[in-house]
Amino acid sequence: MGCRDIQGMDGYGEERGGDRGWIRASEINPHLWWRSIVENFNSLPATQLPKGIQAAVGFTAICIDVPRHLKYLLSSFLTRGGKLVKARLPTDKGLVGALRSAASLVRSQELHGGLIFVNASGLGAKELVPDDAMFPVRGQTVLVKGEAKYAKTMNENRYVIPRPGSGTTILGGTREVGNG
Ligand SMILES: Cc1cc2nc3c(=O)[nH]c(=O)nc-3n(C[C@H](O)[C@H](O)[C@H](O)COP(=O)(O)OP(=O)(O)OC[C@H]3O[C@@H](n4cnc5c(N)ncnc54)[C@H](O)[C@@H]3O)c2cc1C
Repeated sequence: MGCRDIQGMDGYGEERGGDRGWIRASEINPHLWWRSIVENFNSLPATQLPKGIQAAVGFTAICIDVPRHLKYLLSSFLTRGGKLVKARLPTDKGLVGALRSAASLVRSQELHGGLIFVNASGLGAKELVPDDAMFPVRGQTVLVKGEAKYAKTMNENRYVIPRPGSGTTILGGTREVGNG
């Protein structure tokens, strides 16, 4: 399935801490919205901080090899009788127009059962809804051989994240707000 529990460390150095401006060491914990959904969340004592890090937290969380896990999810869906139909929905008549088009597509494929639509269009929602508040953030990473034992992130945009079971690790990354 490409998932396993992993030890993680999230650290903050002296530079800018993500989108929220400068973060003092004593202020990082309240900012971490995910602190209640990971296990073993704890502040690391100063003696355990790597060089250049002012403050850090440790935690246990699920780490996922996303390409492998998505293949697993798709095959589970198909083996349970799900059907995959690929189509681009029109956006010129808004969400209602797109839903009408999706409904007629479902009927043309002679699919049975009730109609439930989940809008998971990601950045496509910018045109579909439309939602002018959405903007792209380009991020680029490098996939290297060798699987890191721990996941480490720093200042929200530097990370070392293993892909469980794949023998590879993601190193990142860039973060270009507004670059689609
Ligand atoms: C370099 C990089 C690395 C990343 N690494 C990770 C990672 O390791 N782990 C992680 O959790 N996240 C990672 N992310 C973030 C992750 O990719 C996104 O958060 C995630 O893909 C968002 O999923 P989504 O389903 O909301 O949108 P998307 O994955 O963008 O899916 C939206 C889908 O809707 C379709 N769509 C849109 N409009 C229409 C339309 N009109 N008709 C039909 N279809 C339409 C699109 O074609 C697309 O397939 C990474 C992102 C980047 C850029």
